[in-house]
Amino acid sequence: MASVNSAKQGAGRVPLIAGNWKMNLDHLQAIAFVQKLAWNLKDAGHNFADVEVAVFPPFTDLRAVQNLVAADKLPLIYGAQDLSAADSGAYTGEISGQFLSKLDCTYVIIGHSERRMMHAETDEVVAAKIAAALKHGLVPVICVGESAQDLEEFGPSAVPVAQLRKALEGVKSASDIVVAYEPVWAIGSGKAATPVEAENVCAALRAVLLEVLGADVAEKTRVLYGGSVKMTNIGGFMKQPNVDGALVGGASLDIDEFSGIIRYQKHAF
Ligand code: PEP
Repeated sequence: MASVNSAKQGAGRVPLIAGNWKMNLDHLQAIAFVQKLAWNLKDAGHNFADVEVAVFPPFTDLRAVQNLVAADKLPLIYGAQDLSAADSGAYTGEISGQFLSKLDCTYVIIGHSERRMMHAETDEVVAAKIAAALKHGLVPVICVGESAQDLEEFGPSAVPVAQLRKALEGVKSASDIVVAYEPVWAIGSGKAATPVEAENVCAALRAVLLEVLGADVAEKTRVLYGGSVKMTNIGGFMKQPNVDGALVGGASLDIDEFSGIIRYQKHAF
């Protein structure tokens, strides 16, 4: 397995395992969780330079996570689950990228299918949020993926490829972005894509990066798979040349399971 990681790292892509907590864990629970996760990984001798670990707590947890990570010098990275396209003003309930930068967030998830579906986020809104993230020095984790109906009508790649093209409209240069392929039918369903299905779409997404942002960016951008990832299936995804990690929902809330996903090299090959 070291060779698969080194091939990706040779291209400048450190595998990334990212946990999207969604609307789970308050700030006190977040402190306990992050502390335990960090200890667990330290005890297991996890090398964070080899596989990066990020968590995406709810907004209200971020200050507590920032303090903990800074005080204990934890090697964990964190980010937010969304941001506003606007910088400031009369946007009740919205959170500016500027605020997230001040909280030392590295990443921000943009265009998660739950936001596209439940908050009517269009590709245009997603593109505006990506611009806002980049403006504030945040790395956008751009989520794309087809529904079960899209899959039946258009096949696996058409919708995610079109979503990524739209998302990148207006992005003239971006040295640091992450793309997450998350088939909607696989999210929270227990029915993950197969590693080959994930690889095919991730390769098509990398081709879009090549076309829009050029060879350097395409080569160094991490493309993640997300949708019912578990300790038992992560290894198959990580063997694929174009899958550079995972965006994990449900399983990221269980410390042992999430640690097992992060430590895929130890048990899956
Ligand atoms: C997600 O919501 O981003 C996700 C991948 O969820 P799950 O891992 O629970 O399918």
